[in-house]
Amino acid sequence: MGRPSRILLLLTAVVVAVGCAVGVGESGPSESRRRSPAPGQSQAGDNFADDVRAAVGVAERYWTQRFAAAERRFQPIRQVVPYERDGELTCAGEPIPRNNAVYCPPGDFIAYDINFAVTAFERIGDAFVYYLLGHEYAHGIQVRLGVEYRYTIDQELQADCLAGAYLGDSIKQGWLTLEPNDLDEFANGLLAVGDDPSVPWFTPGAHGTARQRTDAFFAGYGRSVVACQLRA
Ligand SMILES: [Zn+2]
Repeated sequence: MGRPSRILLLLTAVVVAVGCAVGVGESGPSESRRRSPAPGQSQAGDNFADDVRAAVGVAERYWTQRFAAAERRFQPIRQVVPYERDGELTCAGEPIPRNNAVYCPPGDFIAYDINFAVTAFERIGDAFVYYLLGHEYAHGIQVRLGVEYRYTIDQELQADCLAGAYLGDSIKQGWLTLEPNDLDEFANGLLAVGDDPSVPWFTPGAHGTARQRTDAFFAGYGRSVVACQLRA
């Protein structure tokens, strides 16, 4: 994914996404330990960190524009925070597990397991980082719009659709450049995060099968937010 030359960095930290919202309650990521340089830099060079910053920066720009078009003021997600250990961060008192990325509504922050994300970045490609952050960022958009859901899977597939809209529209506007492998990387990433077919669609943790998630993402990618059943 080609990064924009100068939008980057209004954010304090970094971030991303596959699992999701965890409860509701207090505020702020509680951290038992704080480090300064993000671990991704030593493991994957600067590219991973740059892609995270670009993904978040472009998401902020995109949603600011969409909200402005609806005459609404947009408040960017407060923080994007990497973590490495089980329970290193909590959301509403619940430990956030490894190998995951979540948006925490009460604290208005995104947290991502940096080792998980760097591994996916290396195995699948840089486009996965944009998808992952776009998906978690979309959960923050759902909260800002007060969207309610009967089933988790509806919320998750809508977040995939909104991630697709953010990426497809940002590419159309020239904020991001699509590189040759990016579409395959999106597709491979969605395959990797799909539920096992044995997971019933109505269970609280259901995110959708690979096919459902792929369809949702590319619907948003091709047709923008109108494809995502959003009222706003
Ligand atoms: Zn989610």
